[in-house]
Amino acid sequence: MGNCSTCPSKSSCNASKSEENSCGKISIKHGQIKNVIGVISGKGGVGKSTVSGILAVNLAKKGYKVGVLDADITGPSMPRFFGVNEQRARMIAVDENNAIFEPVITKSGIKLISMNLLIPKEDEPVIWRGPVVTGVLTQMFTDTNWGELDYLIIDMPPGTSDITLTIMQSFPIYELVVVSTPQDMVSMIVKKVVSMAEKMNIRIKGLIENMAYIVCTDCDKKLKVFSNKSSEEHAEYLGLPLLGELPINLELTEAVNEGKAEEYIKDNSLYSLIFEGLY
Ligand code: ADP
Repeated sequence: MGNCSTCPSKSSCNASKSEENSCGKISIKHGQIKNVIGVISGKGGVGKSTVSGILAVNLAKKGYKVGVLDADITGPSMPRFFGVNEQRARMIAVDENNAIFEPVITKSGIKLISMNLLIPKEDEPVIWRGPVVTGVLTQMFTDTNWGELDYLIIDMPPGTSDITLTIMQSFPIYELVVVSTPQDMVSMIVKKVVSMAEKMNIRIKGLIENMAYIVCTDCDKKLKVFSNKSSEEHAEYLGLPLLGELPINLELTEAVNEGKAEEYIKDNSLYSLIFEGLY
């Protein structure tokens, strides 16, 4: 039987088909997920994975059961963010033809699956054509032993390629959180992904403006680095509500490099404040 728990329109889903909800979305095979949230930017390097990680840590801190699917197959960074890049996700055979992925569990109990936890060495490239990537990603979603989750955060791939299209079309996304930086060129590219989501009737929660400012260590002032425009103006251009601004924070980058981002975020009220009211 199918499973409607992750269907964005539960009322119209009768779980009659196997592996696919009647709403046409794929279902997970092992467990139940209440909400699937996609974090998307359209452009690489703007902080999509960082925001995915911060969001996941905040939800876990609130007591929710959280999973993260690193859908950035060719540039996966979530294992490093959580400091679990030395670990490997196990594949367990269920029968002759089927296996399940056992996710890696982070320090705060977040279940993580990423291409970089499945290949032997994290710096090996994945040289696959789009359809193969799409197939593997779909399997990472459906065949991971997620168990019971309140939230699954999907760190979406950059761009509007066929992989993004597949996720938007087939995955039971409840809504998207959009990440951008205060640069007109970035906003223009992010706008493409916003328009794509709108065309596909996927709800967007709003915009997180990352790297919005840097705090001067001598004078404590917020200095703008990339643009004199406000985050509100960028949000208006994208037609989205502004959910919050994140500063450029060298301490965060260093915590990520040391595999201690989870602890840093938990102990830093700035990150709780921004994400507090979201979910
Ligand atoms: P994306 O997922 O959009 O490609 P990442 O989240 O991987 O981007 O971020 C790219 C790099 O920038 C990483 O090294 C990350 O640690 C750093 N970074 C992201 N956001 C911030 C921030 N607010 N302050 C400092 N460094 C950041």
